[in-house]
Amino acid sequence: MKNEWRKYLAARAPRYTSYPSALHFDRSVSREDYADRLSAVELYEPLSLYVHVPFCKKLCWYCGCNMRVENDYGRALRYVCALAKEISLVGRRLGGAGRPRSVHFGGGTPNYLLVDEIADILQAIELEFGLTDDSNLAIELDPRLIRDDDISRLATLGFQRMSLGVQDFDREVQLAINRVQSFEMIESAVGEMRRAGINDISFDLLYGLPKQTLASFRDSLEKTIALAPDRVSIFGYAHLPAALPRQRLIDSDSLPGADLRADLAEQADEALIAAGYRRIGFDHYAKPDNALAVADREGRLRRNFQGFTDDLALTTLGFGASAISSVNGLYAQNEKSLTGYYDDLAAGLLPVARGVELTAAETAIAGAIQDLLCKGSANIAPVLAAVSTEEAGQICIRLEALEADGLIYWGGNVVQIDAAARPLSRCVAMALDPYEFPRKSDLKASLARAV
Ligand code: SF4
Repeated sequence: MKNEWRKYLAARAPRYTSYPSALHFDRSVSREDYADRLSAVELYEPLSLYVHVPFCKKLCWYCGCNMRVENDYGRALRYVCALAKEISLVGRRLGGAGRPRSVHFGGGTPNYLLVDEIADILQAIELEFGLTDDSNLAIELDPRLIRDDDISRLATLGFQRMSLGVQDFDREVQLAINRVQSFEMIESAVGEMRRAGINDISFDLLYGLPKQTLASFRDSLEKTIALAPDRVSIFGYAHLPAALPRQRLIDSDSLPGADLRADLAEQADEALIAAGYRRIGFDHYAKPDNALAVADREGRLRRNFQGFTDDLALTTLGFGASAISSVNGLYAQNEKSLTGYYDDLAAGLLPVARGVELTAAETAIAGAIQDLLCKGSANIAPVLAAVSTEEAGQICIRLEALEADGLIYWGGNVVQIDAAARPLSRCVAMALDPYEFPRKSDLKASLARAV
């Protein structure tokens, strides 16, 4: 990567799994708004379903998810009952409309639940929405919690995609993040998946973790490549101890500096591409015959709450505490606390707590960001027409700076990201995002400093 681009690797750019991001949701969206959108879903509208399981056995100190360590399985059983109730409430609103194309179990740790409970949730979904042989079932798995026969039983239930949280294979790094899992454990899980006929195995790796070095991370990448998952996601660890107190357990002095972070990210990109993986968007990699790589080649790649996907459904229904739904221009997020989630469902109410209804400008920006991240180019004319004059000016100033640094080509209304700069796509997306512009108070402060 060009030297002058390295500053962008250090930028704290949103992940843009939605626009606006959940940080900007507020209480202006009500359960009634969500219910109205559900009632308007078309009969054969494709649906993407997400089920959030917030429980974990142990706390990973880097974790930024909505989760809780839970040792009482009875509480998980209560949660499964609540999920079934929520699924039924949403199903009633849909009145038979919508066809699920995919169901994704995420968390937390979905396999904190026993397979019997996962089967119960799937059955509730089947009853309300129906599933077909074409419905794609995916699940995130913590390798430390995989029990005998779990993989084969999940495969029998219809799960064709399994994702393993690997993060890093180095023991020193694992101790520094409180997540110790041996190479043999991951190797055995992958072997079981292959024997069960799973041909879409995904690994999540993290760079920027404490104690990581170029040599240790190279070793983790080599081990990853040796196990040959079909997809690999490489995420940068965001250390935000002020917002996430659990991250204070990580020794800040042991974190890689900005230069090493950039080198780690670059090393991962080069190693995976040299091993034959295709880069998808900015942080996913897939074998050339994997469905994600095929979707990318055919221009069908999309980005949703789970990251890059080949799922074409525009409507996402999220179930469980903190889960987010996206229906026809409305984001609705469920209560984050289990107490609030249970109370609403006990009262027969959809457990919506917050969200946002997209304005015309936000819809245009969301579309352009989707194109930039998934295709590497976007027509920004609808954005410039929809935002205020002041915001349009800011966008142009930011795009000019990116163009001057060689990250983008900007001709007419089309912004094209340089192929080598695709890992920095989020920084280009940020140029279109008024939430990321300096606030007037910030501008005043910097002017005062300049004077
Ligand atoms: S298993 Fe996942 S969700 Fe649970 S604490 Fe670790 S990182 Fe967080």
